[in-house]
Amino acid sequence: VSDRSVTIVEVGPRDGLQNEPGVVPTEAKVRYAAALARAGIERIEATAFVHPKWVPQMADAEAVVAGLAADSGTGRARFSALVPNRRGLERALAAGVREVAVVVSATESFNRANLNAATDATHAEIAAVVGAAAAAGVRARAYLSVAFVCPYEGTVEPSRAAAAARRLHDAGVFEVALSDTIGAAAPRGVAQLLDAVAPHIPIERIALHLHDTRGTALPNVLRALDRGVGVFDASAGGIGGCPYAPGAAGNLATEDLLFLLDGMGIATGVSLEGVLAASRGLEAALGRALPARVLRAGGAPRLDTPRPA
Ligand code: MG
Repeated sequence: VSDRSVTIVEVGPRDGLQNEPGVVPTEAKVRYAAALARAGIERIEATAFVHPKWVPQMADAEAVVAGLAADSGTGRARFSALVPNRRGLERALAAGVREVAVVVSATESFNRANLNAATDATHAEIAAVVGAAAAAGVRARAYLSVAFVCPYEGTVEPSRAAAAARRLHDAGVFEVALSDTIGAAAPRGVAQLLDAVAPHIPIERIALHLHDTRGTALPNVLRALDRGVGVFDASAGGIGGCPYAPGAAGNLATEDLLFLLDGMGIATGVSLEGVLAASRGLEAALGRALPARVLRAGGAPRLDTPRPA
């Protein structure tokens, strides 16, 4: 696989920071996302245009987007934003966002808990959002939440999740991120869902959004790589979780994903040292240590230093 390359989609500034219990200053959010851009990450989900009553952590979405636009050091990075509905899309477009993400759950109960709507209603809203975005020249990716396991309904039948993914693809999104929202998927489930989706959606349009809650994120990455997936979401520092999913904590850490891919000789264009710098900056801003394993280990080992006797 040494001639392969993988795209990392950084979701820490949105999926991670929206789960912070306290208020994170806008400036710290911008610094974190800009540092990740300087590390070489070209796709970064920067914020969410959601009602501040529901997600107060994202109330400064416009300011974050403006702060990143004003930063001259972000290079080729493209910053996207989550939009739950047409109102969110309007705000995102007005802020100058050029790529958006939409979300629906694979199960009715999680969609009710997370979005307060039936999945049919959310799919209809998504079709409207994707259409309006396309009319503005803006592309949309979709998250399929709880695509593998739902905290209320248990293991999700792969055919059911695949049908929802297909519906999203048919709505015109450029990519479907199959999401292990509560970090409970195992490699067999990943293979089963990818096999169910493969006949209907080109593999280039599939991303995996993994959480490491139970330690299966990297094994799941390996299985997905075997199935030809080339896009993985991750969160620098390993921050994140889901406020509606009991026990869910920790997106797959960007540095952990990158350490694995580097070790496999898979190109990403991303600097591990750069990602670690972004995570350390966020640790300073939040005033606590972050859980990414490679961060806790102090980065990659210096193999040129003499071993202790
Ligand atoms: Mg997530």
